[in-house]
Amino acid sequence: MENYAILKEDKSEIQSTVSNILYFKGIGLHTGKESQIIIKPAKADSGITFVRKDLNPNVIIKAKADNVCSTMLRTSIGLKKEGSGKEAAGCISTVEHLMSALWGAGIDNALIEVYGCEIPAMDGSARVFYESFYESGIKELNAKRKYIEILKPISIESEDKTGASIALYPSDDFEISYDMDFNHPLVQSGSFDMKIDGFNFYGEISKARTFGFLKDVEYLKKSGLALGGSLDNALVLDETSVLNKDGLRYKDEFIRHKVLDLIGDLYLAGYRIKGRVLAKKTGHDMNSKIVKKIGECLITPNAQLGKKEEANFIAVGKTAATLFA
Ligand code: ZN
Repeated sequence: MENYAILKEDKSEIQSTVSNILYFKGIGLHTGKESQIIIKPAKADSGITFVRKDLNPNVIIKAKADNVCSTMLRTSIGLKKEGSGKEAAGCISTVEHLMSALWGAGIDNALIEVYGCEIPAMDGSARVFYESFYESGIKELNAKRKYIEILKPISIESEDKTGASIALYPSDDFEISYDMDFNHPLVQSGSFDMKIDGFNFYGEISKARTFGFLKDVEYLKKSGLALGGSLDNALVLDETSVLNKDGLRYKDEFIRHKVLDLIGDLYLAGYRIKGRVLAKKTGHDMNSKIVKKIGECLITPNAQLGKKEEANFIAVGKTAATLFA
């Protein structure tokens, strides 16, 4: 499969990274364990790189769909161990909300040091990460931004009976149309369709929280999931209502969170995408499958662009040790 997508250099946009070191600490939504992350500036063309700093030796994991190791209710990345099937070394769970915030803030390159096995949930949305990026500053780098342009439709359909599907079509913008189908009086079925850029990401998408149903909590916890979930980091619904006392941030917060997840998962393509995305009832599994498919049919005209690059980080004054002191 070729000629379906191409990696190009943008004529007008340039790459960026964070200006300063950022520190976040909190409970992981699924593991329930406390973790810390430190986000540092990185050089142009290094992309988004995670490092499990709590492991010895450290495990470096590029934010790429090839490194996705679990998609059960969240997207986890890790390095595949030689000869051990699906088992991954240095797994990091729930990267999608942070990836979405990085996309929204226009950050192309960053080093994310992780002390723990999951990204802190914060408030269950991308808002805290996004606001911190803007408050601390975003630094432009001396390199043109690269993006993936969709040339011909790329699509997949689920193999089960859920009827889920996702397709990308050519477009000059990044547009998402998402159809949701839930059998709940508040969540309901619905559609969301928007051209998304860094400006409307903040207002329309970034604050949408993850959600779960009270009836599923016991089963999920027995399965080792949602162990850190609470009203502080998720919308929780019983049969008819939202249990969070402040209610919803958007009338259709649920579908907007699905879009937030989709943006974060698509950013595991390694670059921003110019294309129209039509997604129907997808979750992390379908999202990561379409990203892998884009990677398989991606033309990289300049050999340099396709070359595997070692992350090359900008030296910064403060070290992890001083931040933790
Ligand atoms: Zn989510």
